[in-house]
Amino acid sequence: MKLLIVCNNSGCGSVFPAGSIEEAEALGFMCPACNSKTVTHHIIQCRHCYSIVNFIPVYEDEEPVIFYVKKCSLCGDAKEERNLSPSFSKDIFI
Ligand SMILES: [Zn+2]
Ligand SMILES: [Zn+2]
Repeated sequence: MKLLIVCNNSGCGSVFPAGSIEEAEALGFMCPACNSKTVTHHIIQCRHCYSIVNFIPVYEDEEPVIFYVKKCSLCGDAKEERNLSPSFSKDIFI
């Protein structure tokens, strides 16, 4: 029996076949393309729903690690992203 797994990378979303849940788990519930990235990229993962938020390329001599964010946009909390954008003053005088 083949299972169809939705890729755990929220930016990917592709569906891939797996022989079993164990097989999919070994891939981190990521499609083969995204899973191959885990060797060459740091992973940013949501601590809340465990979906992959982003990949960051690994520099030479760096070990790929997993960064966790408290919540991702899928969890309905994009506040942290908004805080990163600079705020502009509305009071502009000519
Ligand atoms: Zn994928
Ligand atoms: Zn999430």
